[in-house]
Amino acid sequence: MALSRRTVLVNGAIALAVLPAHARPSALHQRLICLDTHLDTPADLARPGWDVTARHTHDTDMTQVDVPRMADGGLDGGFWAIFTPQGPLDVAGMTAARDAAFLRAVQIREMVAAHPDIFELALVADDAARIADKGKIVVYQSIENAYPLGEDVSLLRGFYRLGVRMVGPVHFRNNQFGDSATDKKLWNGLSPKGRELAVLANDLGMVLDASHASDDVFDQMLEMSHAPIILSHSGCKSVFDHPRNIDDARIKKLAAAGGTIQINSYNAYLINVPPNPERDKARRALFDRLDGLDSMTPSQAAAAVRGVAADVKALNAKYATPRATIDDFMAHVTHALNLVGPEHVGIGCDWDGGGGVTGMEDVAAIPQITDRLVKLGYTETQLSAFWGGNVLRVLKAAHAARKPG
Ligand SMILES: [Zn+2]
Repeated sequence: MALSRRTVLVNGAIALAVLPAHARPSALHQRLICLDTHLDTPADLARPGWDVTARHTHDTDMTQVDVPRMADGGLDGGFWAIFTPQGPLDVAGMTAARDAAFLRAVQIREMVAAHPDIFELALVADDAARIADKGKIVVYQSIENAYPLGEDVSLLRGFYRLGVRMVGPVHFRNNQFGDSATDKKLWNGLSPKGRELAVLANDLGMVLDASHASDDVFDQMLEMSHAPIILSHSGCKSVFDHPRNIDDARIKKLAAAGGTIQINSYNAYLINVPPNPERDKARRALFDRLDGLDSMTPSQAAAAVRGVAADVKALNAKYATPRATIDDFMAHVTHALNLVGPEHVGIGCDWDGGGGVTGMEDVAAIPQITDRLVKLGYTETQLSAFWGGNVLRVLKAAHAARKPG
């Protein structure tokens, strides 16, 4: 059954054939249903001419996930994020964000509709195995940053109907729903609207995601929620002290409530990267060149991306920045595993959202995670929980705790 999951993928079968033997996923890894709880890949769907079914390289187009590379990595799918950057807390900003978020949700559905033999929308926990066993990619959807809901929490119902099953209130900055882990305290946790959001998410059966949220928001969501909550892409504060990472006591509370922490591979959260304003300014200026991407022709867009990718490489060479390795990433994974066990840890690499480390640059490289955990003595049953079972348990519990009607 597992083999057929891989071979049904047309591109995937070819992809496996060209991989060198040492890079091929183990039979054990291929048998597992592997889900990543934070894929920022939907942002790439907006690039004119970008084809998710074609093979790309991170080096030349800065993407990390596509169908052939998912097959290489044995990733069966996961939560495809509707991410909206934080903008001004005014009507114009919120209206623009609302439109952008709905458009992103439409783009995810268009991806599935254009390739019904490759992708399938997933809505409940049992969908994952059903879809993966057909050899298709599992497409759950999540909201990263609830800012696009504006002042109207009930819009969350619309996103639920579109298939969204996980919601995180904030991103890098505070917003109308609560405090971000990377901003000053404004609300001391959730705002009154943030509490409404948490209640409605519970009522709908959506999983509450505390990644990017302040510790106060984490505590309050955990306290309020009638279902386990998730950290969809976070790290361990006791491995590296960063506001985006979470301390051991909170990881234990999350686990005690049935939740799961999904480990992130975002460089600056894994190791100490000293600030360099000059480098950051130059980097922002480079990415600003991609601002009008969606109005370019496919060839213009491809050329713009190639140009920026080359200049990013030159920039990285100019400003030597410490880069985490797969060992640094695994230090967070194993710390969480040692702390709360394989029933409460998983993977949310932040692919296409800034994730990736030396030795694990894109989704094709994830079988190494399994190989390393096998060497540490983890069993197939434990790895099955780690790679998918845990998040599906949380999703199932959120669904079971929903308010009928
Ligand atoms: Zn994020």
